[in-house]
Formats: sequence, structure tokens, C-alpha cells
Amino acid sequence: MEKWIYLDHAATTKMRSEVIEEMLPYFNEYYGNAGSSYGLGAQSRKALKEARMKIARTLKVIPDEIFFTSGGTEADNWALRGVAEAYREKGKHIIVSKIEHAAILQTCKYLEANGYEITYLNVDKDGRVDLQELERSIRSDTILISIMYANNEVGTIQPVREISKIAHQRGVLFHTDAVHAYGHIPISANEDGFDLLSASAHKFNGPKGVGFLYIKGYKKLRNLIYGGGQENGKRSGTENVAGIVGMAKAAELAEREMPMRMAWESYLRDELWEQLNKEIPMVVKNGSSSDRVPGNLHVSFLGYGSENILGYLDRKSICVSGGSACSTRDRLPSNVMMAMGKSLAEIRGAIRFSISYENTREEILEVVQRLKEYYNCQHEIGKRSEKDDEFVAS
Ligand SMILES: *Cc1c(COP(=O)(O)O)cnc(C)c1O
Repeated sequence: MEKWIYLDHAATTKMRSEVIEEMLPYFNEYYGNAGSSYGLGAQSRKALKEARMKIARTLKVIPDEIFFTSGGTEADNWALRGVAEAYREKGKHIIVSKIEHAAILQTCKYLEANGYEITYLNVDKDGRVDLQELERSIRSDTILISIMYANNEVGTIQPVREISKIAHQRGVLFHTDAVHAYGHIPISANEDGFDLLSASAHKFNGPKGVGFLYIKGYKKLRNLIYGGGQENGKRSGTENVAGIVGMAKAAELAEREMPMRMAWESYLRDELWEQLNKEIPMVVKNGSSSDRVPGNLHVSFLGYGSENILGYLDRKSICVSGGSACSTRDRLPSNVMMAMGKSLAEIRGAIRFSISYENTREEILEVVQRLKEYYNCQHEIGKRSEKDDEFVAS
């Protein structure tokens, strides 16, 4: 097996062996449909009930408020469309930030095409929303505020508790896309005051294709998927029992190991930054120093194109990302970096390292070594590739 150095945990994570073990019996032993009345179906029902309890416990909410989905994207779509359609008598105005994930921003586009009005809040240079702008943006027809808990690109944590206070003073629902925070930093749904929260298992060492939406007090929310009435009638489709069981196990492990993971991840992140700063000229750090998820380091190599750096690292079996995995597909400049007011050079040379508790100090030092090699090599050649120059010129 090829040995990778994987520093792209914001894109996805490796499943823990304990998670796989927990899931296996639900493929070929307890394979009953949770909707069937005989004992084999009851086994699946019991597994779902336990998983719902485990997830609920991590957020300190009641199990009936947890609705399983096919992942973070579905949960985000459901939160926005569900509220939009259920509350349209009250109003058609929604507030989000400019740095949301595509799952939110593209759903906003859909809603705009269907008669809703969306306000996109600015962020400061560290990627934090402006609370005063938020207050000013709320109108009598505002039905929902959706602001992500932590940004998947630059790692900035939003002042969610203040946002929820503002929302509730004005009688507006508050949804948070917590996909990049849940399982990584402590979250208390009640204290933070969320009405809705999205999470995704594959971002915290669980399986891909499963997530959940927390709906406080299971508020009236238009269904996204119609059918056989699973998930309390709100989200139909035969449940992904093995996936859900795996997600609950991963959530439990994440909760138990969180202090250790956070400490190790932030140690490695700080080490990586210190070494880069020492060894490579012209590298700057993006995002907040204080309000930041532990494993995220986002830097810009000024004067370099991130595709070239990524290509070089890939040849050395090192996985990192330029900006976010989701925006590299269309090769558009990062909406997050643009909103933060970054220069073209900062945007072009942006690299995101997302570190997990499974990474080692040796891996971090090797990555720095490779980047130093790359820098020295480029420096010696004394000129950048023509492609880069074209980019600058255009
Ligand atoms: C990954 C991610 C999503 C999408 O979740 P999927 O389970 O991959 O659909 C949504 N929001 C944020 C912030 C993410 O990081």
C-alpha cells in the first residue's frame, strides 16, 4: 500500500477501525429493514434508536430532535428549503454569510430563483461575520439566519452564541452548518441556542453518505424527501442502518477523545506554522489565530500558484488542498478568500492543511522539508512557469 501523508482532513477522514467493526454486523447479520415487524427488523430499529440516543447525548438534546440524512449537503438543503417553504407566510427573507459552503450557497440560489430574498453578510479579514451588520439586516419578513459554525476553508469559528441571541431577540430561527465543527470542538446545542444544526459523519472518522439534521423541538419544517414516512414522517427512505451506527460510534469516540485530539492537532498546527515561517520566505497565515478549529492551518505562498505546489506535493505522496476541495472542481477563486478581502497573490498561493489527531510530528516535518525543496528549486530556476506569469498578467 502506498504511504500517503494525509493533511486534508477537512475534505474527508479515514474511518476508525472501531467504527468499521461496529458497522459490519449490520450488513449481513442484522440486515433487516427497520420498518419490518419481525425480530430481525426490530434489531435494526434498536440499533437506530441507540444511535439516535448517542448522537443526541453529544449535543445534550433529546433523541427525537435528531433526523438522519445522507450527509451534510442534504441536511443543509433541508434546513434552508424546509424553513423557507414552511414559513413563507411569515416572510421570504433569509440571511447567510458570504463564506458558507456550496451546500448552503447553491440552495440560496435555488431559493432566489423561487422568489426568496437572500442577504449575504460580509466577513472581516479573519473571516468573522459582523454582528452589527447582522442586526441591521434583520427585517420583519426575515425567517431564517444560517451561519456556519466553523469555516471549512480557513477554519474560523463564528460567534454563534451571539448570533443566536440576536436571532432569537428578533424572533428569527437560527441554523448552523456545523459540519466542520461537530466532532472536533465542544458544541452544546442548547447553550449555543441553535434551532437547526447540520453535521456529517465522514468529517469525523465516520462513513461517507450519512449525516444528521438537529431540529429543536422538531419545529414545523417542510419535508425534503417524500415516501414511506421514516424519521418520524419527516425524511423518508429505508434507513442506512450500518452508516448511522458507524456515525454514532464515531461521534462517541470523537466526544471521548476530544481534549486529547484538540491538544495534539493544535500542537502540530502550531509546529507546522512555526517551521514554515522559519524555513520559507514569503509565507503568510490566513484566518483567525484565536477563534479557529484546532487542525486547520491556512497559508498563502506569495508569488506561487497553489496548483503547482499541490502538484509537487502530490508527486511526493502528500495530500493537501488549495482552498477547499469543493471549489477546486470549478477552479473559481475561493469565495471565502475573496470575502476576506485577500489579494490576488494571497488567493493564488493559498494552501489549506487540515491536520488530524492521527498525524505525527515526523509527517509535519517532512511536509515542511518538501516545501522547502520546492521553494529552493523554484528560487534557483529563477523564473516561474509561463502558466504562472500568464495568470498574473490576466
Ligand atoms: C463537507 C461539508 C459539507 C458537505 O457535507 P457532505 O456530507 O460531504 O455532503 C457541508 N458543509 C461544510 C462546512 C462542509 O465542510
